[in-house]
Amino acid sequence: MKLEIIPPPVYVTQPALPPLDEFIPYLREIWDSKILTNGGPFHQRLETALCQYLGVEHISLFANGTLALVTALQALRITGEVITTPYSFVATSHSLMWNGIKPVFVDILPSSLNMDPAKIEEAITPLTTAIMPVHCYGRPCDLEAIQAIADNYNLKVIYDAAHAFGVRRDDGSILRHGDLSALSFHATKVFNTFEGGAIVSPNAKIKKRIDQLKNFGFVDETTVVIPGINAKMSEVSAAMGLLQLNYLDDALYKRSLIANRYRAAIDNIKGIDCLVDAGEGMSNHAYFPVLIRPDFHLTRDVLYQRLKEQGIYARRYFHPLISEFPVYRGMPSAKPENLPVATIASRQVLCLPIYPDLADEDFERIILSLQSCKD
Ligand SMILES: *Cc1c(COP(=O)(O)O)cnc(C)c1O
Repeated sequence: MKLEIIPPPVYVTQPALPPLDEFIPYLREIWDSKILTNGGPFHQRLETALCQYLGVEHISLFANGTLALVTALQALRITGEVITTPYSFVATSHSLMWNGIKPVFVDILPSSLNMDPAKIEEAITPLTTAIMPVHCYGRPCDLEAIQAIADNYNLKVIYDAAHAFGVRRDDGSILRHGDLSALSFHATKVFNTFEGGAIVSPNAKIKKRIDQLKNFGFVDETTVVIPGINAKMSEVSAAMGLLQLNYLDDALYKRSLIANRYRAAIDNIKGIDCLVDAGEGMSNHAYFPVLIRPDFHLTRDVLYQRLKEQGIYARRYFHPLISEFPVYRGMPSAKPENLPVATIASRQVLCLPIYPDLADEDFERIILSLQSCKD
């Protein structure tokens, strides 16, 4: 009888939790104050700390990233049609649908898998009011090209920056670009508050409107000015975020080391390509996507399955494309002919496990599996 020792599973990501011992005093503070939500002390402290950490002027915390996207669109009174990318998590387009806005999909660039600015102009109609690009995998979009088109046609730009926590260029945080940027602090993201999100805004006036929208439209105890929603972040989530910020530089550094090791190892595997390195600071290594090319001896889906059988849970982000889901696929812009680059990327991409505490043995096992997977 052949005895197989099955090692524990490796998932695509795992949250980097701060020491529990350090979280207990934060919880005690919440218990003592009996303030659990509604902009309590931890909420205020996290907003201040995040502005400082990220290098932005104004931030509004949310219960999750999807509500941040939905609210960002409302804050700018976006209507009609919005140009967006099919190569993202469904929440990007869903946030438009929740506002009665029609998503118009444009293709992506093969190098970055971000929205192709050259495809935006032809998608603009008299109904277009905004562009919603995604900094996919935490790598910056072509910020200047997108802004130039927006300026030219008088469109707003709302970035889905759910992947882009802490990403900087020489000129500072990429979250300062566009009219608004929405972040997600979901448990699977680089920085998490269990569930959570935020909107980065350029001035106090728009932040005020956002803060009203996330709290039913209340301005004071008895005045409601807009039909807002309940999208407030709780004190426990805010405390989690505040504590975690102390460990974030270390977590980002560990991610970058793993990304470098992946690059070196995958360089020698024929038929598997990494994305071009975005450059120092230009990615937070939130994900490690590779493309399984036709000259690899297995298809992406077979490789995905083989890895899974060995307890390695890679993920096909983003497959299917948003434009392939039933609610979207009937739209003219959702046709695969309109989205050839996204369609191919969605068939070839595989996101490999990456997280700060990924053990050396697990990393070695992943590389060995990639090198030796059989039909
Ligand atoms: C995670 C994610 C969201 C949604 O964030 P939640 O906090 O889970 O609601 C939106 N867009 C993208 C690109 C994401 O990856």
